Amino acid sequence: MMSHSPYPHLLAPLDLGFVTLRNRVLMGSMHTGLEDKGSDFGKLAAYFAERARGRVGLIVTGGIAPNRTGWVAPFSGKLSRRGEVPRHRMVTEAVHAEQGRICLQILHTGRYGYHPLNAAPSAIRSPISPFTPRALSARGAQRQIDAYIRCASLAQSAGYDGVEIMGSEGYLINQFLARRTNRRTDGWGGPYGQRMRFPLEILRGIRRAAGPDFIIIYRLSMLDLVEDGSSWEEVIELARAVEDAGATLLNTGIGWHEARIPTIAAMVPRAAFAWVTGAMRAHVRIPLIATNRINTPDVAEQILARGDADMVSMARPLLADPEFVRKAEEGRQDEINTCIACNQACLDHVFRKRRATCLVNPRACYETELRASPTPSPRSVAVVGAGPAGMACASGLAERGHHVVLFEAADRIGGQFNLARRIPGKEEFEETIRYFRGRLDRAGVQMRLDCRAGISDLAGAGFHEVVLATGVVPRIPRIDGIDHPKVRGYIETLLNGDAIGSSVAIVGAGGIGFDVAEFLSHQPASSRDIDPFLDEWGVDRTLAARGGVDGMRPILSPSARTLFLLQRKAEKPGRGLGKTTGWIHRTTLQRRGVRMVQGVTYRRIDDDGLHITVDGEDRCLTVDQVILCTGQEPLRDLEPGLLATGIPVHRIGGARETADLDAKVAIRQAAILAATL
Ligand code: FAD
Ligand code: NAP
Ligand code: SF4
Repeated sequence: MMSHSPYPHLLAPLDLGFVTLRNRVLMGSMHTGLEDKGSDFGKLAAYFAERARGRVGLIVTGGIAPNRTGWVAPFSGKLSRRGEVPRHRMVTEAVHAEQGRICLQILHTGRYGYHPLNAAPSAIRSPISPFTPRALSARGAQRQIDAYIRCASLAQSAGYDGVEIMGSEGYLINQFLARRTNRRTDGWGGPYGQRMRFPLEILRGIRRAAGPDFIIIYRLSMLDLVEDGSSWEEVIELARAVEDAGATLLNTGIGWHEARIPTIAAMVPRAAFAWVTGAMRAHVRIPLIATNRINTPDVAEQILARGDADMVSMARPLLADPEFVRKAEEGRQDEINTCIACNQACLDHVFRKRRATCLVNPRACYETELRASPTPSPRSVAVVGAGPAGMACASGLAERGHHVVLFEAADRIGGQFNLARRIPGKEEFEETIRYFRGRLDRAGVQMRLDCRAGISDLAGAGFHEVVLATGVVPRIPRIDGIDHPKVRGYIETLLNGDAIGSSVAIVGAGGIGFDVAEFLSHQPASSRDIDPFLDEWGVDRTLAARGGVDGMRPILSPSARTLFLLQRKAEKPGRGLGKTTGWIHRTTLQRRGVRMVQGVTYRRIDDDGLHITVDGEDRCLTVDQVILCTGQEPLRDLEPGLLATGIPVHRIGGARETADLDAKVAIRQAAILAATL
C-alpha cells in the first residue's frame, strides 16, 4: 500500500527503538483552555481521542506547568501533585483506546507568566507581560528543575508515552540560555556552558527518573528571532548536548513570543522555516521535527523527502481537521479541511482566555457538545447563499439526511471568501472553498449556481424550511459627493485592482480596509515565496546573525501608491484586528509608508479629492480614488416575502447580523443550525 501512496515519507513508521510511531505526523502542542480546569478534562480527552482516531502519529498536549511559578496564568493547567494525575489518566486512556500515543508538554513560562508569582533567571520584565519576575536564587533554580522532573514522573504514572520539554518560544529554558534574559554570575549564568546547565539537568533528571522506554521530546529554539538570542553555534552545541543527555526526538522552535517577526500567521509562506531544521540535520543523530506553517500533506511530504526533517509537527491543521492523516492515507487529501492560518479561533481565543476552536471547524474542542446525528425526519431545505455560512449549513444539513438545495447568485460558491483570497497573504482562503466544494458534492447537495433566488423559487417549491445565508451589502456612508466618479467600493477594487490610480484614500480602517491597503500596497513578488518573506522581515538565512536577526535590517518595500487609511475613531487604527495578527498588518503597512489617520471627519468628495478635518484642521487629500471600506449591512431582501408565505425562515451569517460578524461567527452559526434543524 505504501508504495502507491503519494506520501511515502509522511506515512512511513518511525522506529524509536522502544516504540514505533505509526507515521511521521506529530500533533504539536497547542493550548486550548480545556487543560486549565479539571472539570474540562472529559472534553479534552474527547478532543485528543478524535485526533488519535484520525491516525496522527504522536500527540503533544498543550503546555502544562510543573508548578505554580511556571503557570501561564493563575490557575492554568499544572501537574505537580498526585491528586492531579487521575484527570490526566482520562486523556491518556482515551488516546490509547484509539491506538494513539501522547506526550505531555511541560511548560514553565518564567518571565512570560501572566501572574505575580512568576520567576526567571534575572528580574527583567518581558515586553509581553506586565509582571516583573522575581530572580530565582540558586536553590530556586534547582527547585524548578526538581519540579520538571517530578512533573515528568507524574505524567508517566498518568500513562503518558512521554513528555515534551518546552525549550523554545522564549519561555523559562530560553530565558536561562540567552544573555538577553540571563545576567546571572553564579553557576546558572555566565558562559554559555553554564547557561546550558539548566535544560541539561532537567533532561538528565527526567531520563534518570523515567528510564529508557519513555519518549522525551526536547523543543529546541533553533531561531530565537530576538536580539541577543542564541547564536547558531550555541544552538548546535545545545542540540548535541541534548542528544547526549537522553532526548528521543528534537523538535524545532522558531521565534520567541516577544519577537516581532511573524512565524505562523497566514502571510508566512508554507514551510517557511523548515530550512532551519534542515540545517541542524548534519549535527545530530536523533530524529528531528520540522514546524511552522506546514498545513497540507504535500508540503509535509516535500520537507521529509528533501531530508529537512524526520517528522513534521502540525498543531492548527489538526484542529482544523482531526482526520488529516487518515484522509492522506486513504488518498482523500482533497477532502482535508485545511488550516488557513488565520489564528482567529485558536490563538486569538487563547490570548483572550476563551476556549480555542477553529474558524473552519467549529467542532474543534466542542467534540462532546457540537454533534451531528442522522435526522429521523428528513426535510426539504433551501439554503440561499453559498458564502461560508451557506456552504457550512448546506453540507451539514445534507450529511444528516435532509434534502438540500443551495442557491447562489454568483457563478461560483464561496461568497466573500472569493474576495478574501485575493489579498496577498490570504491565498489560503481558497482552500476553504475547495474543501466545501467537495463536501457539498459528497453530501449530495443540489447546486443552483448563477441563480439569484426569489420568492417564487422558494415558496410553493416544496421546501419545508428556508435558510437565509445571503450575506451582506457594503454600507454606503453619508458623505457629500459620495456619487463622485472617484468613489469605488471595495468589491470592485479587489476585482479590478489595475483600475486604481497612484494615490488613494481608503475610508474605514476595519479588517477590510486593512486588507484593501495590503492589496494596493503589495509588491509583485509572490507572497508564497519564502525568500522575499524572510527579506521583508529581516531574517538572516545564512544563520550568521545571533538569534537570526541581530545586525540585520528588514528590507523595506515601500508602496508604489500613495495610500491613506482613514477612520473616524480617535483610537489607533487596527485595534479591532486579531490579537495575534493585528501588529503584523500594522507593521507591514507602516513599513510600506501607508499613512494611517485616526479621528477623521469626512467633509466631501469632489474633483480635488477627499476633504477631511483632522485635529480641527481642514485638509484635502488629492487622491485619484476614494475607496469605501465602511462596513456592511445585512442582506435580507427575501425575508418579508418569505415570512408572508409561512415557511419557517432561519438566518445565519451576515444575513443575521453584521455587528461582530466574521467568517468564524458565520460558520459556527451555520454548523449549530445544521446540527439541530
Ligand atoms: P457572504 O460571504 O457574503 O455570502 C453570501 C452569499 O449569498 C454570496 O455569495 C451572495 O452572492 C449570495 N446571495 C445573496 N443573495 C442571494 C440570493 N437571493 N440568491 C442566491 N444567492 C444569494 N472574515 C474573517 O473571519 N477573516 C478574514 O480574514 C476575513 N477577511 C476578509 C477579507 C475580505 C476582503 C472580505 C471582503 C471579507 C473578509 N472576511 C473575513 C469576512 C467574511 O468573508 C464574511 O464575514 C463572511 O463571508 C460572511 O459569510 P456569509 O456566508 O454570511 O456571507
Ligand atoms: P469593520 O471592521 O466593522 O470596519 C468598518 C470600518 O468602517 C471601521 O473602520 C469604521 O470606523 C468605518 N465606518 C463604519 N461606518 C462608517 C460610516 N458610516 N462612515 C465612515 N466610516 C464608517 O468592518 P469591515 O472592515 O467591513 O470587515 C467586515 C468583517 O470582516 C469584520 O467583522 C471583520 O471581522 C471581518 N474581517 C476580518 C479580517 C481579519 O483579518 N480578521 C479581515 C477582513 C475582514 P470608524 O467608525 O471609526 O470610521
Ligand atoms: Fe487554523 Fe484558523 Fe482554525 Fe486556527 S482558527 S486552526 S488558524 S483555520
